[in-house]
Amino acid sequence: MFADLHLHSLFSDGTFTPEEIVAHGKRLGFGALALTDHDTIEGCEHMAAACAAERIDFIPGSELTAEFADHELHILGFYLNTQYPRLLSEMARFQEVRQQRIRDMVARINELGVPLSVDSVFALANCRSPGRPHIARALVKEDFCSSLDEAFERFLKKHRPAWVPKAKMSALEAIELIHEAGGLAVMAHPGLNKCDEVIPELVKSGLDGIECYHTKHSSTTAAHYLNIAKQYGLLVTGGSDCHGLSKGKPLIGGIKLPIHYVHKMQKAREKRLASGDSTSRKS
Ligand code: AMP
Ligand code: ZN
Ligand code: FE
Ligand code: FE
Repeated sequence: MFADLHLHSLFSDGTFTPEEIVAHGKRLGFGALALTDHDTIEGCEHMAAACAAERIDFIPGSELTAEFADHELHILGFYLNTQYPRLLSEMARFQEVRQQRIRDMVARINELGVPLSVDSVFALANCRSPGRPHIARALVKEDFCSSLDEAFERFLKKHRPAWVPKAKMSALEAIELIHEAGGLAVMAHPGLNKCDEVIPELVKSGLDGIECYHTKHSSTTAAHYLNIAKQYGLLVTGGSDCHGLSKGKPLIGGIKLPIHYVHKMQKAREKRLASGDSTSRKS
């Protein structure tokens, strides 16, 4: 039995509905799936229902955009209480930041002489947690760019002319918020962030795990982070980071995390709940 613990739906910048993700998961034989949309948990109730119908274990999650020591980090929260008020209010705040950033980036694109309308981006995104891929798709759809890559290269990549930095919560706040919401906090794709030096500090602040297996990690990178997980006693997670068809072929199926890692997560979560470091204490 295998799991995929990093999946995006059209509630953020993926292209599949939660139901479509589950259909792919079923076809590929997964026993457990986590939905980890950027800064939102809106898709979780849909995915929970679809997983229940297919007898797949569902883990409600999210991928929080955070920063630490000038690095952008993504912190995955797993087993989140999706009703927890402060989680909902913080997510609403960061969704507003994302929407304003879309307006700012489109304004810059307009200043560069490309008359992309912000309404067309919001219509295409059709979600509360839009991101740069939605602008890229709108640029392609309206024939201002011939590919998503061109859109990122010309406008959207860090330090390109339409790029606007995103206000983020600190990684330490993200870990605390995830714990308050009853979840486990996991550093996403550390091989892409290349800032191993921050790991000890995050561990001190309660980081529970590290995403060793990811479609953009080589086997050497995965082995490196498995060693770090062992050294710090961290949980090991893994997922495809599938965004549906947004980047060509769907990535789901690219990572098959052995289910025993999920069992370890369940135990850790129970231990954390029993220790009272969660909403069971705060609400
Ligand atoms: P945002 O959340 O707005 O910062 O956008 C981040 C999303 O953009 C992630 O899903 C990335 O995978 C995607 N992304 C970042 N750089 C590129 C790129 N050069 N080409 C395509 N997608 C990208
Ligand atoms: Zn994404
Ligand atoms: Fe990420
Ligand atoms: Fe992701």
